[in-house]
Amino acid sequence: MNHEASFTQMPITRFLIEEQRRINPAPEASRAGSFIALINDVRLACKRIATLIGKGALANALGEAGTSNVQGEAQKRLDVLAHDIFVRTNEWGGQLAGMVSEEQEAPYAIPEQYPRGRYLLLFDPLDGSSNIDVNVSVGSIFSVLRCPEGVSEPSVGDFLQPGCAQVCAGYAIYGPATMIVLSTGHGVHGFTLDREIGEFSLTHPNLRIPQSTSEFAINASNSRYWEPAIRRYVQECLAGQSGPRGKDFNMRWIASLVAEAHRILMRGGVFMYPRDRRDPSRPGRLRLLYEANPIGYLIEQAGGRASTGLTPILEVPPSALHQRVSFVFGAREEVERIERYHRDHNEFELDVPLFGARGLFTTPNV
Ligand code: MN
Ligand code: MN
Repeated sequence: MNHEASFTQMPITRFLIEEQRRINPAPEASRAGSFIALINDVRLACKRIATLIGKGALANALGEAGTSNVQGEAQKRLDVLAHDIFVRTNEWGGQLAGMVSEEQEAPYAIPEQYPRGRYLLLFDPLDGSSNIDVNVSVGSIFSVLRCPEGVSEPSVGDFLQPGCAQVCAGYAIYGPATMIVLSTGHGVHGFTLDREIGEFSLTHPNLRIPQSTSEFAINASNSRYWEPAIRRYVQECLAGQSGPRGKDFNMRWIASLVAEAHRILMRGGVFMYPRDRRDPSRPGRLRLLYEANPIGYLIEQAGGRASTGLTPILEVPPSALHQRVSFVFGAREEVERIERYHRDHNEFELDVPLFGARGLFTTPNV
């Protein structure tokens, strides 16, 4: 059987419709149709963003917007444009009751002239935007939740659902090829944009993450702030063949969550953006609702593990729309090891010296 030919004939919409039929052969027609229409609009938003990004400097869309978002981060022009594209493409269809964007403090209310639907859409319209000016992969991340029954004007509390409540999660990656990778709770599937026909086709069915790995990703410039568990884990990786792990590791760091997640879904690995000791009130850097939850959902659906370092990310009860969280994900055995190290090291060991007898730069197997 020619797999290549059969995959290129499976457009994303047909895949999702057939998947829904398999899961539930007698669905309530309006709900199934509404969900497919929602994902169609998300896919259109991603195509629009891909087109804009593909033009690069020609579209006059690069550089700073001169504004800052709710987190006080400087916005790129593309952050603002991608947010507008997501909102405009998804507000009118009647599938949504509300949206939350990284770029907007309050939930986005569906304009009055449009009907309300039963889903909530949460998104990071442009992830890794610091990469855009250097022409490195960026992405969009999205998460779909059910709007609570009877609610047509969702308030902040209606969006504060744990990651395990997601109906669908995914991302688009705008790399050398544009892809959408998503899950509706039945495995993770990747679709590649065929620019000639303007459609995403199934190219990566049933992605699985190998249980172990010898590749890790962390921003090592923060190492002086790391807690003991992360120090120990990285120290043991760096010690390589002669260390306690008995093998050499490679390190990667792209500084774009989507690109890191994509690499791990394609060939395995482990990613860490841990809590550190800089500011105890900030438990991490990545945002729970529209970064860690959707990526965590994909990772778990692909057989990997997603964690805060202490607890599964999908079980974290959200307390704020733009809440940050520590995030460790990837190969199941590696994430479980990191969780074990977190349990093994208590608060008293926070003062482990960087160069001391038990510090980061000693030989670990002596
Ligand atoms: Mn982001
Ligand atoms: Mn962003």
